[in-house]
This record gives sequence, C-alpha cells and structure tokens, in this order.
Amino acid sequence: MKKANVLIIGGSAAGPVAGISCRRRYSDKSVILVRKEEQVLIPCGIPYIFGTVGSPTKNLIPDALVVNNSIELVKGEAVEVDREKKTVSLSDGNTFSYEKLVLATGSSPLVLPIPGIDKENVFVAKKDVSYLNNMLGKLNDAKDIVIIGGGFIGVEFADECKKNRDCNVTIVELLPHCLQLALDEEFCIEAEKVLSDRGIKLLVNNKVEAILGDNKVSGVRLSGGQEIKADMVVVGVGVVPNHELAKKAGLEIGPGKAIAVDRYMRTTTDPNIFACGDCAEKVSFFSGKPCRLMLASVACAEARIAGANLFDTRCKNPGAVGVFSTIIGERAFACAGLTERASKQEGYEVILSESTALDTHPGGIPGSVTTKVKLLFSKDNGELLGGGISGGKSTGEIANVISSCIQNRMTAYDLALFQMGTHPALTASPIVYQLVNAAELAIKAV
Ligand SMILES: Cc1cc2nc3c(=O)[nH]c(=O)nc-3n(C[C@H](O)[C@H](O)[C@H](O)COP(=O)(O)OP(=O)(O)OC[C@H]3O[C@@H](n4cnc5c(N)ncnc54)[C@H](O)[C@@H]3O)c2cc1C
Repeated sequence: MKKANVLIIGGSAAGPVAGISCRRRYSDKSVILVRKEEQVLIPCGIPYIFGTVGSPTKNLIPDALVVNNSIELVKGEAVEVDREKKTVSLSDGNTFSYEKLVLATGSSPLVLPIPGIDKENVFVAKKDVSYLNNMLGKLNDAKDIVIIGGGFIGVEFADECKKNRDCNVTIVELLPHCLQLALDEEFCIEAEKVLSDRGIKLLVNNKVEAILGDNKVSGVRLSGGQEIKADMVVVGVGVVPNHELAKKAGLEIGPGKAIAVDRYMRTTTDPNIFACGDCAEKVSFFSGKPCRLMLASVACAEARIAGANLFDTRCKNPGAVGVFSTIIGERAFACAGLTERASKQEGYEVILSESTALDTHPGGIPGSVTTKVKLLFSKDNGELLGGGISGGKSTGEIANVISSCIQNRMTAYDLALFQMGTHPALTASPIVYQLVNAAELAIKAV
C-alpha cells in the first residue's frame, strides 16, 4: 500500500488546483493525485474541438501541470473509500492510504429521460477523448444537427458546428430565450440575433419530447408534434455531480445532490475529507443559500480553499458569485453576479444603469468594438449586485473586474471613483469608461 499525506481524486479543474495549492502552502506534504483518464480534457474547451481547435488532443490539460508541482500522478479509478482505515482502493487493486483526502470527482452530463436518447448519433458533452473523437468524425458527416438546450454549452456547440462546415444547425430551447439562465433578456435577444445571423435556427419555448429513428437518429419530435430532421443530436441540458464514491463512503449528500461541505470545503461528515468543484455543494455569495453554479472558475476557487485548509484553517469560502462568459461569432457576452431576474427572485430592489462606449479611443482604431455594460446596485445600500456585458474580447475581463467589485462589496459611490488604467488601443476612453459612467448614472437615479 502506498502512503500519501494528501490523496486527491480527480484530475480536471479542481483536483490539480487543490494539489498545487496544498504543495504551495504545505511544501513538506506528499501529494498523490488519482484520475481515471489517460489524457484529461480542458472541459470548457470541449465545444471548440468541433471548430476552432479542431481535435480533442489539442484541448488537453498537460500532465506537466501536476508533475512539475511535485504531485505524483496515478492513472486509475477510485472505487472505494474506507474512512476508518483512511484508505482508497482503485479498480486495478492498488490501495493508497491518506492523512487528508480531497474529492474532486466533478460532474457528468445529465441524461434527458426521453425516448430515443440512446440512439446512435445522439451525443452529450462528455469529458472523454475517444468519445469526442468519435463525435467529431460523425459531425463531419452530418448535414442536419439538432442541439437540445440553448445554454452556454448548446450555443457554443452550435456556433462551432457552423465553422468551416456546410450543415443545418437548430437549437431547441425550453425557455423563452437562449442563455436565459445566465444573461438578462436584452443580452439574450442580442445573442439570439447573432446566432440567427450565423444561420443557426432557434426554436425557443420548445421541448424535445422524443428522438426518432431506428437504431440511428433520424429526427426529433417536439412537444407540439412538429418533427425536425436530424442525423445528429447534441444534448446540452446540464450536468449532475459525481457523488457515488462519497455516498458509498457514508458522506452526507446535500440538496443539490452534491457532497455536503462547510465554508472551509471540509465535508460535513468527516474532517479529514474535503470536497471541491462540481462534486461539492455550493452556496450563493449573495444569500448563502444552496445554488447550482457549476463552473470551472468556482471549482478552482474552491480547490484553492480546500488545498489551503488541509492541515490548518486558513481560508473561508465566501460563496459563489457566478461569472459566465461566452463568444458567438465575433460578439462576446458575459455576466457577473446576479441578473436582473435573479436579483428580483432574491428579493432585492435594484437600481439599474448602463453605459455603452467603444473599447478603444479614438473609435477609428481598427478592431474597435461597441461595448455595453449594465450594472445592478442594491437600492438598500448601493452595493453592486451584478453586471452584464456585451462587446468584444475585453468582455470576459470586464466581467471579472465586476466580480472583484462585487466580492469587495463596492457601492455605486466607490465605483464612480474607480481608478482604471486606459490606453487608446486597449480600453475605452477614461471619459466614457463604462463601469464608472454606469455607476455615476446609478447615483443620479437615487
Ligand atoms: C462543454 C462545457 C463547457 C464549459 N464551459 C465552461 C466555461 O466556459 N467556463 C467555466 O467556468 N466553466 C465551464 N464549464 C464547467 C466546467 O467545465 C466545470 O465546472 C469544471 O470542469 C468542474 O471541474 P471539476 O474538476 O470539479 O470536475 P470535472 O471537470 O468533472 O473533473 C472531474 C475529474 O475527476 C475524475 N474522476 C471522477 N471520478 C473518479 C474516480 N472515481 N476515480 C478517479 N478519477 C475520477 C474525472 O475523470 C475528472 O478527471 C463547462 C463545462 C462543459 C461540459
């Protein structure tokens, strides 16, 4: 039996980060990371395999990330945790003992419970190189592709399918808008226009009731009875936490069907076992209530907290803020914190303000993009609750700045005095800088 001070199960976003964080904080501790894949994918890059990136092997997390941080990498599947003996057994018969165990077993695609889901040429966003290689081959021969789910994954798949390919792509979305769970309505409408302009057909307010065909998919049937031709279906309707190993070990499973943890990422059942990433329960930064923000950024933040707290209590999880970003064609969309809809659901009265400007100055600089920022402040205390953005590539980092302001509980008054750095080719002008202007406008509205 091999011994480790720290044993980590999971090798995608959360596992390696927990290991690196532990090595940085406790350099005398030995760390072994167990993961079941031979090669591990960058999960967020999966849609881009089908267009921009071109192949699963060009979308890998390098093993060097783990081994260069003096973490021993073991490829194998953990099948049992014995909490009394403090050991973990793998399916190949190897056993490891631990002082501290980190579960970073992630999530798997949700399987839609509809007839025909198991037909040939129906795919999900599975984090598996050979599965995605097969899917890429099938996509290259497909003519009519139906994507079930118009969230980030579905929209990104649709956009990538259209790149360098002559095919018909239809997104079927249950809600009134694509991306509705992450963005405010005006941004959804703008994103839908970009999707339509790129030749992607949108069927919103629609539900796929069955997948049709003999062995192989030939179409889908919507709940209204309409049938759509399809030789390939991609299902992107969410993920479920991988909690089986934890459950078998007697660890508490929370309301989101993930492993129950405290604010220090310790499991609520066993102080020597931590959990982080998609397999761990989340709470909202705003309400402290359980939430389902399964994002790589959240997974890595939790992993850093878990790694830091393994042998000493050093960091507390403030809860998930939730920062999403995506790009469709040349137009990027992002959101940090609460949307207008979510803020109302949480019972906030909000002040809304927005500001639009070019992302260079003067605007004549080649590649300049009109960038809109919408901010939401609490009417009660002026605190920033969220922001939505649409624009060019700077959109993702503007969302990150907004998230930082939210985490530091900045108000409209603080933001109005925000000292940013500007450059003609790199940012909006300091005169019309969207974050600051939107904050001043919110103060005016009080
Ligand atoms: C298509 C797609 C696009 C996405 N885009 C974004 C994005 O743009 N931005 C963003 O923030 N998030 C995005 N996400 C979400 C993000 O990928 C997840 O939040 C993130 O992968 C969670 O990381 P994780 O390490 O917790 O879990 P996972 O990535 O699920 O990894 C779990 C790891 O544990 C291993 N494992 C599980 N069980 C065992 C076992 N018993 N033994 C050994 N190993 C085991 C797995 O093999 C895997 O290596 C996207 C997700 C998908 C599917």
